[in-house]
Amino acid sequence: GETRRAIDAAERAMREPLPAHKRAEILVKVAGSLGRRHDEIARVIAEEAGKPLKQAKVEVSRAMSTYTFAAVEARKLAGEVVPMDASQAGEGKLAFTLLQPVGIVGAISPFNFPLNLVAHKLAPSLAAGCAVVLKPASQTPLSALLLAELETEAGLPPGWLNVIVGPASEIGDVLVKDDRVRAISFTGSSDVGWRLRERAPRKKVLLELGNSTPVIVQGDADLDVAAEKLAVNSFSFAGQSCISTQRIYLQKWIADDFMERFIPKVEALVVGDPTEEATDVGPVVDDGARDRILTWIDEATNEGATILTGGSVLEGRLIRPTVLGNVNLGMKVCREEVFGPVVTIDSYESLDDAILLANGTRYGLQAGIFTESLPSALRAAQRLRFGGVTVNEAPTFRADQMPYGGVKDSGNTREGPAYTVRELSEERVVVVDL
Ligand code: NAP
Repeated sequence: GETRRAIDAAERAMREPLPAHKRAEILVKVAGSLGRRHDEIARVIAEEAGKPLKQAKVEVSRAMSTYTFAAVEARKLAGEVVPMDASQAGEGKLAFTLLQPVGIVGAISPFNFPLNLVAHKLAPSLAAGCAVVLKPASQTPLSALLLAELETEAGLPPGWLNVIVGPASEIGDVLVKDDRVRAISFTGSSDVGWRLRERAPRKKVLLELGNSTPVIVQGDADLDVAAEKLAVNSFSFAGQSCISTQRIYLQKWIADDFMERFIPKVEALVVGDPTEEATDVGPVVDDGARDRILTWIDEATNEGATILTGGSVLEGRLIRPTVLGNVNLGMKVCREEVFGPVVTIDSYESLDDAILLANGTRYGLQAGIFTESLPSALRAAQRLRFGGVTVNEAPTFRADQMPYGGVKDSGNTREGPAYTVRELSEERVVVVDL
């Protein structure tokens, strides 16, 4: 009932298009409000998601950036001229394309970036001129409601944004079945995402899904830099990022040197209360996630993996940062997405072996390589089958203007305001006989 009423409201709103300059103005104002209320909003994220305050602050700054880039896109979104006299059939005609909003967007977002991943749905939708019905993750609705409040304060007319908090499958069902919803933008786990797409073959279904993020450390890499970046990025937000570093592949002859640097850095991470400024690693999202992660660690050790550090609960939902050695791609901790503070270590002889290992799961969101060799970096960039490859940076890196998204089971689209506005627009060609 409520979801259908929200779609009704979105439909009424879209009858009267909002001009691009108004859309851009609203987006700029929201970026400004996020800046003014920065620390307060970071605290909301920390409290609802259990995300350490340091990382929550970064998320707020990134959401500002997402709104700012979307405002730019709103102002420059335009079609193109078609060179009609390039064929005999077109001679004597002028043609150009108009970019029209695709229609109502049904957005579904996950708990792990409750503000910025919602921003990646709302801001480009508005930039493209689309009204939205949003279902945020049940665990983290507050940041989404806060964004809705900021958009309203910034002058968004009624009906353009409708947030519905409630049972996922019911709301998902209505969004899938109602023909007025022309696009579904989903960020979350792979199985849920692909099922949604199967059920909505006539809609645009944009999927941003999971990963089992690999990184290759070549023998010629700067090991201090690699160890530092990978220690932080394997465990920030307790590994609950879609591109949390999960599989580290070390060239054999530097494996020991790397581990001597890496383990102390992992053990130095501060595990604890996410609302404390010093905390690096907070709790996982709920008891079910904790139990699943511990079971996966147990399964791996039963299959021969060794625990190099961590592997147990500190307290409540706080799992100690865990490093596993002696692993293989058959183990869930490698093959699937752990979504917890666990990283695996394996070694290899040649770069091509490492690339095979990195490519060896059903996922393809981001991967990384550390090397001082340009040819090795470029070979990896060409052969790693992922939506993104980082060189001398952890594969956990993302800036909001990047085209971000996956191949294989990791998704079918690229998010980033410039890319999303295109996905949410339809080209209409206009032909004029001269
Ligand atoms: P999730 O369980 O798939 O939930 C994501 C969203 O989908 C939530 O709003 C959830 O609602 C909703 N949902 C669940 N079942 C549904 C159904 N049958 N129909 C429609 N909607 C449904 O994922 P999560 O645990 O929140 O997030 C973790 C996952 O997201 C990981 O796999 C991670 O890799 C992925 N992720 C991907 C990206 C990316 O950009 N590629 C970014 C972040 C996270 P409820 O909360 O009410 O269940």
